[in-house]
Amino acid sequence: MSALVAFVHRRYQTLMIRTALYPGSFDPVTNGHIDILGQALSLADKVVVAIGIHPGKQPLFTFEERVGLIRASSLAAFGADVTARISVIAFDTLVIDVARKEGALVLVRGLRDGTDLDYEMQMAGMNGTLAPDIKTVFLPASPPVRHITATLVRQIARMGGDITAFVPAPVAGPLVARASA
Ligand code: ADP
Repeated sequence: MSALVAFVHRRYQTLMIRTALYPGSFDPVTNGHIDILGQALSLADKVVVAIGIHPGKQPLFTFEERVGLIRASSLAAFGADVTARISVIAFDTLVIDVARKEGALVLVRGLRDGTDLDYEMQMAGMNGTLAPDIKTVFLPASPPVRHITATLVRQIARMGGDITAFVPAPVAGPLVARASA
């Protein structure tokens, strides 16, 4: 291997994103989350979807249910081969600690608008100070899904509205059933 090729190879190895961590609540997974997950999968070899568990906060879906919905939705969106590159875990610690534990040097966050940007810049700044080796990557929401938030989707479902434009097909039935229970 020539010195130049060896240099480029080393450089590429360092720049390659092997494992990315995508943290969030995913209560439930929406078309917006799937959009960001798809973008992350085109950048990283492996994406760890990390579901934040907040003691004292009552989610609509349990952790196990959220895992099932993420798996079914990614299978429907990306197929089995790509879904094999996704793992789903729970965490109740600092995001940087879970990233280290999972061997992820990249945190993926989706950006919908300026409000997301302000908040995410603070988070990225704090995380970058705590863990300079872990980098935050912002991915812009694709236009058709940039208005979607899981909070509003839950509210619409509770009020009997049609949520099918906002969530993957495997989520729609369970969401309607849970919201009306
Ligand atoms: P939400 O804010 O909808 O309750 P989460 O807290 O689970 O969702 O968010 C996890 C990550 O997914 C965050 O980085 C958030 O910005 C991103 N995200 C959520 N919805 C969208 C969307 N519609 N488009 C792009 N990114 C999104």
